[in-house]
Amino acid sequence: MRKKIIAGNWKMNKTHREGMDMLVHLFKMLDFETSIIEDTNKQMPEIVIAPPYLIVENAALLAQAWDVKIAAQNCSSEKEGAFTGEISAAMLKAVKVNYVIVGHSERRKYFHETNQDIAKKIDRVLENDLLVICCVGESLSEREANKEFQSITRQLEECLFHLSADGITKVVIAYEPLWAIGTGRNATPDQAQEMHNYIRSVVSGKFGKDISRKISILYGGSCNPKNAKQIFSQPDVDGGLIGGASLEVRDFLDVIKAIL
Ligand code: PEP
Repeated sequence: MRKKIIAGNWKMNKTHREGMDMLVHLFKMLDFETSIIEDTNKQMPEIVIAPPYLIVENAALLAQAWDVKIAAQNCSSEKEGAFTGEISAAMLKAVKVNYVIVGHSERRKYFHETNQDIAKKIDRVLENDLLVICCVGESLSEREANKEFQSITRQLEECLFHLSADGITKVVIAYEPLWAIGTGRNATPDQAQEMHNYIRSVVSGKFGKDISRKISILYGGSCNPKNAKQIFSQPDVDGGLIGGASLEVRDFLDVIKAIL
């Protein structure tokens, strides 16, 4: 069975103190929820939190005791050296980060990251035995011009197709339509299912059916406690990458519960 994952992307929100306070609160509540579902045949998804870099080290230390995974929101495409302001995948590994998010649409838009940059970042992440959450998504104009599948295919090919069969199994794909991120306008469950199924078919075409069946594909884009259950009930939706609704414990817990 594929891994179900709910990942919270805090973006540039929360000071160290605010972030750690929220994590302690969240982990206690998660423990409680886990004890409630213990006697049912439901299974908690893997929980991933992506805090800002400054919180990552302490978050990773705390998370180990609670079986929660920590992601960085980005990393450098270079190994080390004179790259002022950058953080390498090796540095993230040293503080026991589990995942690195690459290719988020905000990185592509505001920091002009290309598919080629993202492919290099993925290589750095995998060289350090970390896991990847690779974001892909089409713009509104691409969707309106019926070019969404073309856009996603290109992103998948250029970011992921250079990987080995072993490499691709360390990648979680997040489908995040740009028009849905932070806009309050989520993809409908049918739109999400259609694209997730398509992404799986593209992965299958390159890496084979067995591998494509094992890859978790998350939905991201204005996913919240109200719409999460319907989106997560789609067969090819294996969880969510959650922005705004991951910033408050109650909202994030309700999103997590929507996948149970
Ligand atoms: C995101 O930034 O990855 C995201 C999905 O944001 P939001 O949930 O706020 O749309």
